[in-house]
Amino acid sequence: MNKNNDFIMVDGITKTFGSVVAVDNINLEIKQGEFFSLLGASGCGKTTLLRLLAGFEKPDKGKIYIEGEDITYLIPNKRPTNMVFQNYAIFPHMDVASNIGYGLRKEKLSNKELHHRIDHYLELIKLSGYGNRKADQLSGGQRQRVALARALIMQPKVLLLDEPLGALDKQLRANMQIELRSLQKDVGITFVFVTHDQEESLSMSDRVAVMSQGKILQVSSPDELYEKPENQEVANFIGTINFFEANISSIHNEICTIESKYLGIIKTKCKYNIYSIGEHVLVGIRPEKLKLHISKPEQDSRLIEGVVENISYLGERSHYYIKTEGLSKLISVSSQNVNRAQINKLITDKKKVWISFDNDSLILIKKNNKKTSF
Ligand code: ATP
Repeated sequence: MNKNNDFIMVDGITKTFGSVVAVDNINLEIKQGEFFSLLGASGCGKTTLLRLLAGFEKPDKGKIYIEGEDITYLIPNKRPTNMVFQNYAIFPHMDVASNIGYGLRKEKLSNKELHHRIDHYLELIKLSGYGNRKADQLSGGQRQRVALARALIMQPKVLLLDEPLGALDKQLRANMQIELRSLQKDVGITFVFVTHDQEESLSMSDRVAVMSQGKILQVSSPDELYEKPENQEVANFIGTINFFEANISSIHNEICTIESKYLGIIKTKCKYNIYSIGEHVLVGIRPEKLKLHISKPEQDSRLIEGVVENISYLGERSHYYIKTEGLSKLISVSSQNVNRAQINKLITDKKKVWISFDNDSLILIKKNNKKTSF
C-alpha cells in the first residue's frame, strides 16, 4: 500500500481494553481537507479510534500515517493534530482571549502579533469584541466556539472533534452544525468528527464511516449511505427503512427478477454477480419513497393494501404506520404536508389505504449482511 496517497491512513489498527476489542483491525483513508465523520452507536469504538489518531491511546497493532509519516507512537503534542472535546475544556477563570491564545504562549510572539492572531480567530468564530469576557460568562455554544478557536489557532493539519455539539440543545446544535461546516470550509483543515447522531453526520460531512463493534461497516458520502447502504445494519442505522422478504427467481445481464409476497414480481439491477437464483433477499424501501392512496389507483398493478394504524404529525411531514395482513411490522410511510388539505387530512386512523412504489427506489440487500446491489 502506498502510504503517501492519502492524507491520513489508518492501516490495520486494533485496540483492546482487557477482553473488549474497541477497534478491530480498521483500515481507513481520509483525504486532505475532508470533513470526515465517524458515526455509530454508543460503544462502537469511534472515540477510541479518534483517541488513537490524537495519540491519547496506543494501538495493539497497526499503523497510522499522516502525509506519509508514521505517527503511530508519537506523543499527542508532537502530532499535527488537535482535539476538541464535548465538554468545552476551556479555562473558566481566564478570559476568552487568553483561552484562545493559550497554546501560543510558548511561541514567544510579540504582543501585537498575538493579539492580531487572537482577533482573527475571534472574528472567525463570530465572537469579535468578546476577548475580555470571562469564559464562565459565556453560553454553551459560545464556549464551544472558543474551544474550537483555541484548537484552530494552533493551525493543526487535522482537527479531531469528539461529539463537540453533544452538550448543546437542539436549536443551538442545528445552528452550530451549519457554522462548523462553513468554518471548516473557510480554514480548509481536515476535520475528523465523532458523532452518534446520524442526521448530524449526514448534514455536515463529505464522507461518513459507519462503525459497529469496533469495525467499519461502510465509508461513503452521505447520499450514498442513505440511498445505497451496503448492508442491513447500515440501512437500519441511517434513517428509517421498510424491509420486505423476497426471492430471486432469475438473473439476466445484471437484472434480477425478484418475487415478493407483498411487492409482487419486480425487475431490478443487481450488479457485481453477488446474487444467485433462488436466493432469499431483503428489499428495502425508505418511507418517503412510498406513496399513500385513499382510493385504489387503477393504473398501478403493484400495490400494497393496508389499514392506517397510527399517524404522527411532525409539522412539515406526517408519518403513517400501515398494518398489512401477514406482515408483523407496520409499514412506515412519510408524506410531506404540502398537500395536507387535499389528501393527508383525509387519511385517518383505521382508514383503508393503498401504497404504491417505484422500482427505482428499491434497495436490494443480501440477507447475510454482506454487500448490497441495485
Ligand atoms: P460513546 O458514543 O458512548 O462514547 P464510542 O463509540 O465512542 O461510545 P468507545 O468509547 O470508543 O465507544 O468505546 C469502545 C469500547 O471500548 C466500549 O466497550 C468501551 O466500554 C471500551 N473502552 C473504551 N475506553 C476504555 C478504557 N479506557 N478502558 C476499558 N474499556 C474501554
